[in-house]
Amino acid sequence: MIGTEDKPLRVAIVGSGPAGFYTAEHVLKHEGTHAEVDMFDRLCTPYGLVRFGVAPDHPKIKSVIRVYEKTAARPEFRFFGNVEVGRDLTVDELRERYHAVVFAYGTATDRHLGIPGEDLAGSHPATEFVNWYNAHPDFADREFDLSCERVVVIGNGNVAADVARMLALTREELEETDTADHAIDAFGASSVKEILVLGRRGPAQAAFTNPEVRELGEMANADIDIDAEEMELDEISREWLESEDADPTNRRNVEIFTDFSGREPEGKPQTIKLRFLRSPIEIQGDGKVERIVVGRNELQRDESGRIRAVDTGERETIECGLVLRSIGYKGVPVDGVPFDERAGTIANEGGRVKDDGHQVAGLYAVGWIKRGPSGVIGTNKKDAQETVDHLFEDLEAGKVPDTELAGDRGAIEALLNERKPDHVTFEGWQAIDAAEVEAGKPHGRPRVKFCRLEEMLEASKVTKTAA
Ligand code: NAP
Repeated sequence: MIGTEDKPLRVAIVGSGPAGFYTAEHVLKHEGTHAEVDMFDRLCTPYGLVRFGVAPDHPKIKSVIRVYEKTAARPEFRFFGNVEVGRDLTVDELRERYHAVVFAYGTATDRHLGIPGEDLAGSHPATEFVNWYNAHPDFADREFDLSCERVVVIGNGNVAADVARMLALTREELEETDTADHAIDAFGASSVKEILVLGRRGPAQAAFTNPEVRELGEMANADIDIDAEEMELDEISREWLESEDADPTNRRNVEIFTDFSGREPEGKPQTIKLRFLRSPIEIQGDGKVERIVVGRNELQRDESGRIRAVDTGERETIECGLVLRSIGYKGVPVDGVPFDERAGTIANEGGRVKDDGHQVAGLYAVGWIKRGPSGVIGTNKKDAQETVDHLFEDLEAGKVPDTELAGDRGAIEALLNERKPDHVTFEGWQAIDAAEVEAGKPHGRPRVKFCRLEEMLEASKVTKTAA
């Protein structure tokens, strides 16, 4: 029987962000089952968006890592970093070596606006900007031109709020954080005076959460600017806010925006300007972004009752040198796993991978690649519980496939030692971590992040005994 001391349930988790770690925790804590978990990440460093997504000026959010470290400390847990599933290992090779494979690799790319000029130099997905300032090794050489006076941020979600804030932090403020050194230098030399954040719907429909909105009005270096006229809500928004469909977050957002709209500017060097009911129509410029054409919207309900932004035909042209498109992340498929192109997720029901409606035995999904890019870090705990519950239901029902190699814990190491000898174990990551923290100490920073693969591989070799 799978799940006994003699024959532990062996689970591979692909991706080491919050969803992956909560999955590992739930699997290893499941009563009455002996389980072992191996976690794979294409990067040398674990924790996914906690390291590369969470804004550096939000260090408290990152303390969730302590919970993940407890899971990682269990003898039944192993980490294999610098191993990309789909490139270094195939999904079939994992299926041969594990009873179950759980995909937790998130949503690596961005959604597109589909407007002319979207790909001009100076128009970037906000996700790339976030990766760059968070020292993601794939983005260390990106350049963002901060020599312009106005940056336009498209979207009203928390990523848009994060990038707007980062653009307004002073060098001194950034130097207390783990922002990548290259980004601190670029922000320090920035000429940006105005950060214009555009929402396609109204203030009542903005996807920001309350603390993120509040922070925009508390910047040392930037005034907040909201047009009081825009806070006179249309009838659809007023009705909706009063209805049960609206969330308390939306109501509170409107209160905070209204408060901001009554403020006089204090003459701070920068301004964060929020404008609503505006959609980008075209990004223009001679070889690079010089201006953006924006359309004014009004709100209408569609047949399903959803409040939609509808173009009024009215246009305005706004000069700017950088456009950050923050309209949501999108998942990418991995070879050998059914994918729902429309949703941008692995095809699944409650985390059970499905092919044309039929369950694919032994394959599961969790987190953003299961449900799409929504929710905060903690949302993944419940999400992981659902996937793990289904995995154990399947185990009990005898639906989890058994394979000969799944009984051999050394099988994956043997394969990796041959195929990817520079893979990084959890101990290797701890050495990287210690080196980064040590480098931060003289500067009073939580850490100085490595942003090159070679540096990380080098640091990962400094084991505790050698140190
Ligand atoms: P998001 O919350 O889904 O926001 C996406 C925004 O883009 C929405 O305002 C959406 O407007 C807009 N949008 C979509 N398509 C558009 C288009 N074609 N034109 C113009 N605007 C468009 O996504 P996100 O900001 O990427 O955040 C992803 C998740 O991570 C969210 O759950 C977020 O809360 C979470 N997160 C949390 C934190 C934190 O807790 N501090 C930080 C960062 C991210 P509509 O509403 O009209 O669709």
